[in-house]
Amino acid sequence: MTDTTRTLQPKPWISGIAPYIPGKSAGADGRPMVKLSANENPLGTGDKAREAFVAAAADLARYPDPGAAALREALGAKFGLDPARVIYGTGSDELLHLAASAYAGPGDEVLYVRYGFSVYEIAARRVGATPVEAPDKDYATDVDALIAAVTPKTRVVYLANPNNPTGTLATKDEVARIHAALPADVLFVLDQAYAEYLEPQEDDGGLELAKQAPNVFVTRTFSKIHGLAAERIGWGYASAEVIEALHRIRAPFNVTRCGQAAAIGALDDDDFVVRSRDQNAQWRAWLTAELEAMGNHGVRVVPSATNFLLVLFEGSVSAEQVNAHLMDAGYIVRWLPGQGLPNALRMTIGSEEETRGLAAAIRAALEG
Ligand code: PMP
Repeated sequence: MTDTTRTLQPKPWISGIAPYIPGKSAGADGRPMVKLSANENPLGTGDKAREAFVAAAADLARYPDPGAAALREALGAKFGLDPARVIYGTGSDELLHLAASAYAGPGDEVLYVRYGFSVYEIAARRVGATPVEAPDKDYATDVDALIAAVTPKTRVVYLANPNNPTGTLATKDEVARIHAALPADVLFVLDQAYAEYLEPQEDDGGLELAKQAPNVFVTRTFSKIHGLAAERIGWGYASAEVIEALHRIRAPFNVTRCGQAAAIGALDDDDFVVRSRDQNAQWRAWLTAELEAMGNHGVRVVPSATNFLLVLFEGSVSAEQVNAHLMDAGYIVRWLPGQGLPNALRMTIGSEEETRGLAAAIRAALEG
């Protein structure tokens, strides 16, 4: 006899998760749009990464190297790291999840700043931990507020630096101050998905910290400046103890053969990285200035260290209205009411043509 009082239910903490919303890539009617909603590289992928990817595709019947040895060696050589302490993931997303899975559970708190990267809340809830948000300071990280929010139950602190969706950067001193304030049994996850867009003097010292401190985990990605978002390749660095714990729970073959090869190719292509960074800096400055010139319409740009801008619409034309106008004009950006930012649009820095077109469309939306 079937017991009809019993029904299949996910765990309550799973039911409490609001799913991650990826950047849209097509309009409602399926027509092609300019996609500026996922912070991808408008220059595409570098030739060396693409060639390595294609060469690796000659052998698809075999599983990839489960230890990603060549990729770890290449990362070690590039960044002066111990390859044994490099971990890799299906995007840095996987690594962010591994951190919460290994170090937090029911009854524990996982802390991050308000307007932090949306995966942190999902990673916390997925393991039954309690997500805790510290207040921001005009969209940027408020170091004192973050430190004040640490409790005896805190087990993981996430900080995206620079942050998504705000684009703001915490300084090296601020990062050191956060770390110094954390008890030794708290894992500090420094998510550097956009680190390659920084100027050398803006480096937040995260990798140096991870080399020495037993409780710092730095995550990086090949999805952004390296133009390999399709392949889902992330990597991270921490103490041997942390890395060992994370390896226990990662998926066995979590980075594909072509992905590993492409990532190695990308590391050997400084020229492409420099071109991408320069292109971004040029058009980020241009778009920032254009939007600031719309200040009379209540437009405000949050200072960005990334390949996107968070733009606030505080005048009579709302972010929602501008977003609707941009969709009509063929531009997809991110309106973020679900993240507590109903007054803001996040827009990726595209090519020159895309960026000029976007600015003109925003102006048209504001001027009616
Ligand atoms: N961290 C931040 C701050 C991000 O913005 C993103 C991409 N949206 C990621 C991590 C994850 O990127 P990926 O999984 O492609 O490495």
